[in-house]
Amino acid sequence: MSRLSHAVPCLRPVAPLMWALLLQAAMICPVAAQSYSTTKLADGFDFPVGKPDGAGYYIFRGFSPNGHLGEDWNGNGGGDSDEGDPVYSIAHGVVVLSEDVKKGWGNVVIVRHAYREQNGQIAFVDSLYGHLKVRSVSLGQQVSRGQVVGTIGCGPYRMYAAHLHFEIRKDLRVGMRRDLYPRTYETYHVPKHFMNLRRSLRFEDRTVRVPINTFLKSNPNRVTTDAVEMPEFTAIGETVRPKLPEELGFVIEEETQAEEATPEKSKTLFESFIKKLSNPQ
Ligand SMILES: [Zn+2]
Repeated sequence: MSRLSHAVPCLRPVAPLMWALLLQAAMICPVAAQSYSTTKLADGFDFPVGKPDGAGYYIFRGFSPNGHLGEDWNGNGGGDSDEGDPVYSIAHGVVVLSEDVKKGWGNVVIVRHAYREQNGQIAFVDSLYGHLKVRSVSLGQQVSRGQVVGTIGCGPYRMYAAHLHFEIRKDLRVGMRRDLYPRTYETYHVPKHFMNLRRSLRFEDRTVRVPINTFLKSNPNRVTTDAVEMPEFTAIGETVRPKLPEELGFVIEEETQAEEATPEKSKTLFESFIKKLSNPQ
C-alpha cells in the first residue's frame, strides 16, 4: 500500500511533511478538463514514404507485439541511400509532438488523425515518425495528407543505417512512454494493415474535435501489465553490441535489434540483402 493511501483519509492535523505529500498528490492527480484541438476528418491513409503507395521502399522490419512496435521502412537502394528522403503525414491531422527526444529516437513527429470507422463512429489514431534527419512541422500545426513532416535519418549519433521507424497507435496516451502501456494490439495497429484497409475513405468536408495534451509527462494513470520478455534474436547468431553512451542502452534494447544498432553491421546486412535481390538463387 502506498504512503498516499494512508495520508488521504487522515483528518488529524498533519505534519508539514504530510502536507508536502498531499500537495504532491494534488499535483499528480489534477482534475483538469480535457483540452481539444480540431482537425480535418481523414479522407484516407497513404504510406509515409514513396508517396502515396510506398513505391521505392520496403518494410525491412515489421511490427511484432511485445517486440518491435512499428515498422522500419527502407529505400530499395539500401544502406543510407534513402537518407534525406521526404517523410509524409499519412493523412490529415494535427501535430501533437515534434521534438528531438534523443535517446535511441532522435527527431520524432507524432500526428493525430481523426477518421470515420466502418461502424460510423469517429476514431482517432496517432502516427509516429522516428529517427528523422530533420523535422519540418511544429507542435499544434495542422497537416494534410501527403504533407512533408520531415526527412529520413539515421537516428542520434547515426546509430542506424538510414530508415524510418513508423508506428500507429490506438491509445492516444502513449507519446514517448511506450513503457507504460501494453505493447500489444490493444495499444498499436499493424501500420501496413491499418493503412491498406483505409487507403481511401469517403470524403466528408468536416472538421472534428480531437483531444490533445493526452501524453502523460508524469504517471497518474499507469497501466500495469505483466513483465514483457524481449524476444531472442537467435536466428542471426551472436550479435556484437556497439559502444554507445550508457543512457542509450535501454532504448536500443527496446527499439532495435542489436545488429540494427551497429551501423557497420546493418550496412553489411543491407548490402548482402541487395546482393541477394540482384542475384536471385
Ligand atoms: Zn524500428
